[in-house]
Amino acid sequence: MNKLQVEAIEHGTVIDHIPAGMGVRILKFFQLTDNGERITVGLNLRTSDGGSKDLIKVENTTFSKEQADQLALFASSATMNLINNFEVVDKYQVQLPQSIDRILQCPNSNCITQHQPAQTRFYVNHSNCTPTLKCQYCEKSFSVGLFKELN
Ligand SMILES: [Zn+2]
Repeated sequence: MNKLQVEAIEHGTVIDHIPAGMGVRILKFFQLTDNGERITVGLNLRTSDGGSKDLIKVENTTFSKEQADQLALFASSATMNLINNFEVVDKYQVQLPQSIDRILQCPNSNCITQHQPAQTRFYVNHSNCTPTLKCQYCEKSFSVGLFKELN
């Protein structure tokens, strides 16, 4: 890891190895800009293997396991680095959960959840490289990219 990219944060979380282009979506998804903490975002950073990535540093913020798993929907390669006193005290790779509850809207316009208040639930199928989500209500499957967050 490039030392320059993490050294400025004293306490908080560094989300690293985000696929380039997903950083801004993750900011919105977790509403990270709403809590007033200092956030540093790196977009299209060069990686050692010649690719590019996004990176997000959030001060004084930690993520629950559930949140980290949700992150895997957009960035299955992401790593969470917990920073305390300028040092990485914990580091792990995000993992797709079995299901995603409440936070996403079904892309099927005929789905009952579009017309009645309901807690959405989608079952994650990650047997192939692009994960799909199956709606508990209409039982249709959609690729992750088609989903919008519930407001
Ligand atoms: Zn549905």
